Amino acid sequence: MSDCIFCKIANGEIPSELVYENEYIAAFNDINPSAPVHILVIPKRHVESLNELEDKNLMAELLFGVKEVTKKLGIKDYRTVINTGKGAGQEVFHIHLHIISGRPLKWPPG
Ligand code: AMP
Ligand code: ZN
Repeated sequence: MSDCIFCKIANGEIPSELVYENEYIAAFNDINPSAPVHILVIPKRHVESLNELEDKNLMAELLFGVKEVTKKLGIKDYRTVINTGKGAGQEVFHIHLHIISGRPLKWPPG
């Protein structure tokens, strides 16, 4: 989508600190990290949120991306979050999985 910031990151129009990419997905550092490690995994094609994601292969690619990133960084303790919808804190309407790590993480989150 032409006015979507994560589409622009995926196609290189906007720079990002890329951590991992393949044909389907990209992972890059969150611009406003909430922990020492805060990475976003996105599909390269535009999908608004988990509500609009129907492609099971792409669902698998996104979770695979989380594993590729954590493997690359050598981290075993991390939180994966998908905010879906405004009421749940989604601010960018191009689906993304947060990977958060590098500090103690309580559950339930504070
Ligand atoms: P959410 O609230 O789940 O939609 O998360 C959106 C995330 O995108 C936030 O953690 C932002 O800090 C992050 N973000 C927004 N713009 C950028 C950008 N240009 N590069 C990297 N991360 C971004
Ligand atoms: Zn997009």
